[in-house]
Amino acid sequence: MATTVITGAQVLVDGEHAPEGVSGIVVVDGRIVETGPGAELLDRWAERDHVDVDHFEGAFLLPGLVDAHVHLTFDATPGVDAATDLTESSAETLAARARVNARAALAAGVTTVRDLGDRSGIVRGLRDEIHAGGTTGPRILTSGVPLTVPGGHLHFLGGAVESDEEIRAAVRQRKDEGDDVIKVAVSGGHITAGSPPTWRSQFTEHQIQVLAQAAREAGLPTAAHAHAVEAIEFAARAGLTTIEHCSAEVAPDPHAGEAAPRTISFTDELVGLIHASGAAVDPTLTSGWIDKAPQDVGFKLIDRIRRLYAAGVPLIVGTDGGVAGSPFGSYAESLLVWLRAGLSNTEVLRLATAETADRIGLKGTTGRLQEGYAADVLIVQSDPRRDLRTVLRPVAVFARGELAGGRVPA
Ligand SMILES: [Zn+2]
Repeated sequence: MATTVITGAQVLVDGEHAPEGVSGIVVVDGRIVETGPGAELLDRWAERDHVDVDHFEGAFLLPGLVDAHVHLTFDATPGVDAATDLTESSAETLAARARVNARAALAAGVTTVRDLGDRSGIVRGLRDEIHAGGTTGPRILTSGVPLTVPGGHLHFLGGAVESDEEIRAAVRQRKDEGDDVIKVAVSGGHITAGSPPTWRSQFTEHQIQVLAQAAREAGLPTAAHAHAVEAIEFAARAGLTTIEHCSAEVAPDPHAGEAAPRTISFTDELVGLIHASGAAVDPTLTSGWIDKAPQDVGFKLIDRIRRLYAAGVPLIVGTDGGVAGSPFGSYAESLLVWLRAGLSNTEVLRLATAETADRIGLKGTTGRLQEGYAADVLIVQSDPRRDLRTVLRPVAVFARGELAGGRVPA
């Protein structure tokens, strides 16, 4: 049994709650078995055989960050055409890249990622390897190949479906292959030439209902890529689990072949429909995109977070890591965008840890520093409730109790 006592100045249970005097955790075989005052834990545990002690003077322990939306096999280098790259790269190249990207995320404090689209299920191999303890990395959930329509957004990954039977078979296949979530590109997207524009749904509402039913029967959650208002409506009415992007996109789309409508309104009615559906929304906002977007678009996207939050819609944090403008390792910077929507540091920390973990099916597993949870820990030098920017410079990162990044403890 590997036992480690990790201590600092204060433990934040879920980024928000911080019981007074609790400054340490005890980890046995990757799981937290006890939390309490550091000195007290050391008194009882440090003298036992085979107990490691990692003390971080003055530091804050918070749960590792959770990224609800990444693409580990993608190359975020500006100018790389995703379709060409992902079609022409060998499976070995993509698997090696996924490994590098996973390590970059982990080093930046992200201890869990949900991969929402790769080619041929490559990420599953890495997920299983990390899970078995053969490789240090973040916990991975994966969708395998995303579902789309023939010629649609991300069709080059191989997940095109059309008939009801094809949709059901695709869901069953993912279940059989061991995927964790069903990803569907309900609307068009930005990176696929010739695909429908972001402001249109690719699927009919009937097709989305068939998919939702098949996923329920398979016992799998769903993640809907949805920019267009009608795509958001289809996803909400079908009861899909998370709505990704949820932009009601108004930005120009270079691949659209038609001009974007002048305005699209993100109405209170739409917010109400999402709220009633119980879906969580992942706005996938990063500083890279917001700062590049035309000012009015950036303002609208940030304002949308404020409105969804005020309406009580569950919000989760995803970066679309791997897509150009969102390199792995920049998750913490994306959190600063949330502050611009009027959320407090503690609210953002809660969303980035416990809330996102709960909403992607990991409640009881990760996202909180409390007994029974995995020891996925991010250690920062100052109190992130006062200064969120401290998260940009992790002191150390533990993945299931194993020191995975940052400096060696004092
Ligand atoms: Zn994506």
